[in-house]
Amino acid sequence: MIDLLVAGGGPAGLATAILAAEAGLSVTVVEPRAAPIDKACGEGLMPGAVAALAAMSVRPPGVRFGGIRYVDGAASAVGRFRDGQGLGVRRTALHAALSTRARALGVVRVEARVEAVRQDDQGVQAAGLRARWLVAADGLQSPVRRLLRLDLPPRRPARYGVRRHFAVAPWTDLVEVHCAPDAEAYVTPVADDTVGVALLFARPAPGGFEALLARFPRLAERLGPPVTPALGAGPFERRVRRRVAGRVLLVGDAAGYLDPLTGEGVRLGLLQARALVRCLVAGRPQAYEHAWRRLTRRTWLLTDTLLRLRRSPLRRAIVPALRACPRLFDAALDQLAR
Ligand SMILES: Cc1cc2nc3c(=O)[nH]c(=O)nc-3n(C[C@H](O)[C@H](O)[C@H](O)COP(=O)(O)OP(=O)(O)OC[C@H]3O[C@@H](n4cnc5c(N)ncnc54)[C@H](O)[C@@H]3O)c2cc1C
Repeated sequence: MIDLLVAGGGPAGLATAILAAEAGLSVTVVEPRAAPIDKACGEGLMPGAVAALAAMSVRPPGVRFGGIRYVDGAASAVGRFRDGQGLGVRRTALHAALSTRARALGVVRVEARVEAVRQDDQGVQAAGLRARWLVAADGLQSPVRRLLRLDLPPRRPARYGVRRHFAVAPWTDLVEVHCAPDAEAYVTPVADDTVGVALLFARPAPGGFEALLARFPRLAERLGPPVTPALGAGPFERRVRRRVAGRVLLVGDAAGYLDPLTGEGVRLGLLQARALVRCLVAGRPQAYEHAWRRLTRRTWLLTDTLLRLRRSPLRRAIVPALRACPRLFDAALDQLAR
């Protein structure tokens, strides 16, 4: 019997597979999509994510960035990381680097989709395979989470995202966040001649990416024609009853998600993967729920606060306040980056 079956070969699933294989477990990843996998993402890895990847010998190619610039109309504010640097990295490059490391450790990859889960006292059956444990790393929509009836209704207004790339040299060593009343644009340098633009918004509108980008006329002017198709995602918020259901454990976006606003999805997925594997190896799978809550609490609180501010009349005061209190901005960034 396989020790660990992982449903989903995104960053959280592959990190779980790598760490489990490093700990001596036999691991199979079930993923329906052919490599390298692309996805709607801002592609900005926080310094903590870069460090977590390096700790598992994964070093994807990308462009370093030193902090974040918020832009709202004529106002702007810059926050710089105190420790380390972020990395703008194409999702395909991140996937390739994680896959290479997983393969080198003997992780088996099966091209299939988990469509049913059966478990008993000894193990779990999914995608025609039997394992001691199943990890659901199958993303925001998580079919496994749905099968196990672990979803809770959302509490906040829905938000969505869409992403494209533009053949333009990065004009700064920062990720830029442009704010409009109902949307934000995240600009991330991902190569010497390419930036990625992820648009987050509250209401899907006719006209797609172009219509949304038109809400940021100064940014749109700099970009020229897009070089990749639009990839979308959402609604974002996923509340989950619990992260451990018998022999099934949830990790990454599948385990619960709020919003990409703080650019922390990958970092949290990697840290959750580490906590999950530690709990399994220690023979204490139930302890993972507590570890997950501890890891995500600060980000959820900050993200929730920012979402509320975005919807409030105070929205226009955020960037001037960050500009007036650069230490506050750096400290907030430090909390996110670690
Ligand atoms: C617009 C946008 C911008 C973002 N910007 C950033 C950012 O700048 N920085 C950052 O760190 N994070 C960002 N995020 C968040 C980040 O993309 C996610 O948190 C991260 O991809 C989660 O990884 P994951 O492995 O949990 O899920 P995913 O990357 O979604 O991977 C899930 C995998 O499961 C597979 N799967 C689905 N169903 C099944 C099934 N039935 N059986 C088996 N496999 C299945 C899918 O094919 C997929 O490969 C952003 C997200 C969005 C939407």
